[in-house]
Amino acid sequence: MATPTSDFDKRKQISVRGIAEVESVANIKKTFNQHLHFTLVKDRNVATPRDYYFALAHTVRDHLVGRWIRTQQYYYEKDPKRVYYLSLEYYMGRSLQNTMINLGIQAACDEALYQLGLDIEELQELEEDAGLGNGGLGRLAACFLDSMATLGLAAYGYGIRYEYGIFDQKIKDGEQIEEPDDWLRFGNPWEKARPEYMLPVNFYGRVEKHERGSRWVDTQVVFAMPYDMPVPGYLNNTVNTLRLWSAKSPHDFSLKFFNNGDYIQAVLDRNNAENISRVLYPNDNFFSGKELRLKQEYFMVAASLQDIIRRFKSAKFGCRDPVRTSFDSFPDKVAIQLNDTHPSMAIPELMRILIDIEGLTWEKAWQVTVKTCAYTNHTVLPEALERWTVAQLEHLLPRHLEIIYHINFLHLQEVSKKFPGDTDRLRRMSCVEEEGDKRINMAYLSIVGSHAINGVAALHSELLKTTVFRDFYEMMPERFQNKTNGITPRRWLLLCNPSLADVITDKIGDGWVRDLSELAKLKPLANDQQFLRRLLQIKQENKMRLAIHIKEKYNVTVNPGSMFDIQVKRIHEYKRQLLNCLHIITMYNRLKRNPNLPFTPRTVMVGGKAAPGYHIAKQIIKLICAVARVVNNDPIIGDRLKVIYLENYRVSLAEKIIPAADLSEQISTAGTEASGTGNMKFQLNGSLTIGTLDGANVEMREEMGAENFFLFGMTEPEVQALGQKGYNPYEYYERNPELKLAVDQIRNGFFSPSNPTIFQDIADVILKHDRFFILADYDAYIKCQDQVSAVYMDQMKWARMSLLNIASSGKFSSDRTITQYAREIWSVEPSNVRLPAPHEPLFSPTVAKSQVKNSDESDAADGDAKAPAADVSQLQQKKGY
Ligand SMILES: *Cc1c(COP(=O)(O)O)cnc(C)c1O
Repeated sequence: MATPTSDFDKRKQISVRGIAEVESVANIKKTFNQHLHFTLVKDRNVATPRDYYFALAHTVRDHLVGRWIRTQQYYYEKDPKRVYYLSLEYYMGRSLQNTMINLGIQAACDEALYQLGLDIEELQELEEDAGLGNGGLGRLAACFLDSMATLGLAAYGYGIRYEYGIFDQKIKDGEQIEEPDDWLRFGNPWEKARPEYMLPVNFYGRVEKHERGSRWVDTQVVFAMPYDMPVPGYLNNTVNTLRLWSAKSPHDFSLKFFNNGDYIQAVLDRNNAENISRVLYPNDNFFSGKELRLKQEYFMVAASLQDIIRRFKSAKFGCRDPVRTSFDSFPDKVAIQLNDTHPSMAIPELMRILIDIEGLTWEKAWQVTVKTCAYTNHTVLPEALERWTVAQLEHLLPRHLEIIYHINFLHLQEVSKKFPGDTDRLRRMSCVEEEGDKRINMAYLSIVGSHAINGVAALHSELLKTTVFRDFYEMMPERFQNKTNGITPRRWLLLCNPSLADVITDKIGDGWVRDLSELAKLKPLANDQQFLRRLLQIKQENKMRLAIHIKEKYNVTVNPGSMFDIQVKRIHEYKRQLLNCLHIITMYNRLKRNPNLPFTPRTVMVGGKAAPGYHIAKQIIKLICAVARVVNNDPIIGDRLKVIYLENYRVSLAEKIIPAADLSEQISTAGTEASGTGNMKFQLNGSLTIGTLDGANVEMREEMGAENFFLFGMTEPEVQALGQKGYNPYEYYERNPELKLAVDQIRNGFFSPSNPTIFQDIADVILKHDRFFILADYDAYIKCQDQVSAVYMDQMKWARMSLLNIASSGKFSSDRTITQYAREIWSVEPSNVRLPAPHEPLFSPTVAKSQVKNSDESDAADGDAKAPAADVSQLQQKKGY
């Protein structure tokens, strides 16, 4: 996504930087050719573009490994408090360009490939996204890893190495088709398998009582094999680890079949155990309650906790320090962050390990567990809250169920102490729901077992205290915090929008990359006409590039002079893509009624995946595609209005779309979107937002000033009040003729003439059982969109607002978010140190080599722990100074 001139610019920069870079370019070319020969086993006559991609990936990876090993050695030597982020999702996207940027070798790689006659951007497009996430929650985990490495925290991500990530979405005949995401098909250069560090995970079995306590016996074992992915910090020689577990059958799995003589069956059955890490569940904000998912969650937690405790015990001074065996210091050395309740079995699992295996008393174990764990809530939607049935837990994890019951027993004792006689409160606050099929409320369990509970935006955190977790807040207010989400400025500006990054750096220097609040220095330029015109020009170039991509991919011609009005996110009723669709239909009807209407041309783009089992979400996609067909083929409309469904929205597509957006649609019903992070990516790239007072929109608008945000719709209290009073969609439908026409057209088949009834279910949702009050906000939304159109006609005013959006986005860096987690939840201080480069000494000369050698044996620092061979390009760079 470079501007047409950027290759030239980059080469120019290199020539200015001088001889050191030239030598490192030569070195990169040499290493690239070696990898093509030795790793890919090809010569240039037969190599495919994919071979070149892998040769480049391995070349870049070579620059990581010295830093990776040494970062882990450094943590072992220094033994700082470790932060463990536990998440069932990491939506990493591509690694190549991000690694080059964070290592500071992008310009040199660009030049090397140019000299080799290869198009680096074409090669980058061949990398598969690591799509191990559904949407915002998984992408947040990925942004957090980047920030933790950049801030120098001794942090580790733990997750599952799904063999199949989020499905590939194809749009065929205007409908979503799911295809498996076979992302590992060609191999993954960004992981290192560590089969030697496999750990056992137990399932099923029963609890055996004995005099000294309980034992979990007769279990079935599955092994967890770690695959490590490097997480480089930005230009600080720090490389942290994301450790993903893959399920492996034990050698004797299904041995009973073997004994019965069915050897073939025994081998085939190994797949059964290995299904645990086969595929990511494609639900966003929805709890489906499947046993395999519970297995995934416990599998990740059990393997990770063993690893965490092993590292705690094998710390450099661990064996000599009696404190280390008593677990008193565990919470001072370990912080565990639960990304939603998905990893919440960590709480009973840590209790089980401490009591049944390490022999701690219940009281001591509980103290350690609560001080160590913290829980982030990501939604207030009831259908998303995890509530495993007691029957499921009893079957799969009987000892854990027992522990959960006892946690709940003691918790309810505390409740009655604090609120004597309040039996209704006791019932409300129980982690065990007694009505219907008995269930465990995993959010309640997480609150009880954590010292800190946080929401992800100010409004959301307040709602937790006043609605879903009100009783818990009243009992322990000191545990409740807010940590407004953020995004990494490296991927979401420096990488995806290099020309915008360059003009910003020209004006205020490059300090913003590590300290995004420095973007505020752009505010005085709000009246600099020349700078505003440059911003408009960059946006225009980004739009042209996206237009070319759309033409190549879908053969649809879009007018790059039109307003790019974009809504990309998972398809969900609460996100209200239907409201957007009603606006599209309204614009269409207005142009049809009055073809000479003064009209601000728009290209409306909608993208996102629907959960395969979510019927209405799939219907919403179908409706938008049907509306697009009618609108795009109407000669009266011409190129004034186009509707595009962006197929297969994912991280790498977001990187292309967001820099090209004029208008960002953030239109969820107030109180339903916990934070949103898409909203922040658009703001950082100079899009203006039309949005409700929901999630982080509230804080974005505060930061930029109300005059720079297109606000509409009910507030959260108004939404609550309407819900109380009773929402009657027909009121709005009957009162507004434009709205009535649009809904009627959906219902009577205007957009689906060959099958006029297919959208009746959507019309029924809108008019009968819409939980998200679409029609109540329709009028305000349309009026606000009219204002948007009017302002867009004044391009200089638009550019000024856009600049003020960019300049106010500093708060929404994940560096700020992580700094707050570090100080206020984990009790660690970001070090911000730049580790020495691989050719520089890591430790002071007084540290004996023998001590260095014996570092954490199962981390990247395994094997030869001596100072690695100097990185030749670095040495050469050094020579130049
Ligand atoms: C940022 C991001 C999201 C989250 O978007 P929201 O608008 O906050 O829901 C989802 N998917 C991808 C690919 C993203 O990059």
